[in-house]
Amino acid sequence: MAADTFQRVVLVHYHEIGLKGHNRGRFEQKLVDNIKALTCDFPVSACHRISGRIVVFLKEGTTHDEQVRAQEFIATIPGIQRVSAGFKCLAEYDTMKELAVEALADAGEFQTFKVQARRNHTNFEPDSMVLNREIGEVLCNAFPEKKVKMKEPDVTVNVEVIENQCFVCARSITGVGGLPVGTSGKVICLMSSGIDSPVAAWKMAKRGATCIGVHFSGRPQTGDESEYLVDDIARVLAKRGCMHQYFVCPIGDYQRKIALSCTPKLRVVLYRRLMFKVANALAEQCGAKAIVTGESLGQVASQTIENMIATSDASEKMVLRPLIGFDKLEIIDEAIRLGTFEISSQDASDCCTLFMPKMPETHAHLDEVKKEEEFFDPSWIDEIVASAELHRV
Ligand code: ATP
Ligand code: MG
Repeated sequence: MAADTFQRVVLVHYHEIGLKGHNRGRFEQKLVDNIKALTCDFPVSACHRISGRIVVFLKEGTTHDEQVRAQEFIATIPGIQRVSAGFKCLAEYDTMKELAVEALADAGEFQTFKVQARRNHTNFEPDSMVLNREIGEVLCNAFPEKKVKMKEPDVTVNVEVIENQCFVCARSITGVGGLPVGTSGKVICLMSSGIDSPVAAWKMAKRGATCIGVHFSGRPQTGDESEYLVDDIARVLAKRGCMHQYFVCPIGDYQRKIALSCTPKLRVVLYRRLMFKVANALAEQCGAKAIVTGESLGQVASQTIENMIATSDASEKMVLRPLIGFDKLEIIDEAIRLGTFEISSQDASDCCTLFMPKMPETHAHLDEVKKEEEFFDPSWIDEIVASAELHRV
């Protein structure tokens, strides 16, 4: 078939945006903008809304493999439920039939299939019943060893006539779901170089939040290894549009002061209160509405209810803990899927391992913690915020 009679496309389907009432247009536009911004390394020629979905048009000459790569990448962008790959052509019956064969051949391994045709107006003859039957016949002839199955087939060939155009798609994969990043306001995500915090940021981004990271490094009392790991993690998140900037705050000297003057078992809670106060000041600066951590109930000493109450008290902004009910193995699975697990598994001394007491308190009392904190100099927060280094990825 002549290359100018069809164009390769990727069709983006969304679910939750479809539930939005009069705000729907804003959500759809944000998703279009995010897809455009994130696919600049792919052969995309245009991307816009058509009839309740987003169509990503690929450049002339794009190969099947390039189309599959684009489809698989687009499926990782928050806000997308399902992504299909196929062709756009003029609504000419013969071309549609030929492309249906091509689309099914591109669909990968399958045993059973069906055709699902739709017309968005009745000017196009034949109607969808006839389209289903006649395109189905063409496919049965082209793939004689495959079976038609109406209920839960391996592949559905979608043929959709919209005005004088037609979209024919077969290869279809599930997207990550959620809402487009940038539709739920800004949050400050506390990023250690560990396994949990990148997953927490990802969960928030998937609910539409714009995530700004902050990493507390033990510098100058420790090296800067954790900062490199956080940078690698931020780059993984940036690829999906989840994080474009993060702060690094060296707090080693302040931890040392706390370690020298406070009851050892309360050090961890006191470090974390310091982090929350700095994160609040940065949130104020950036217009962020909440603080996000990767805590999960009972996972380690600092994550008991009492200790979380004692640390949350230091934050005026709401503290969100999207992983609170997740098991470690569930979080690891998510980190593997996200692509941060290997980075997070590397050892790096960070500020949390610095001056760790032998027996940290697991049930801190807020009044005791506040008493210990009396010696904190309030100017510390301003000093740390002033020394915060902003990184863009
Ligand atoms: P993670 O795997 O995210 O490091 P963790 O299981 O090691 O978590 P903690 O060390 O208690 O648990 O940290 C809990 C949360 O506190 C982290 O998920 C992160 O949000 C925040 N946090 C801990 N250390 C740092 C740090 N050095 N800089 C910024 N945030 C931190
Ligand atoms: Mg950690």
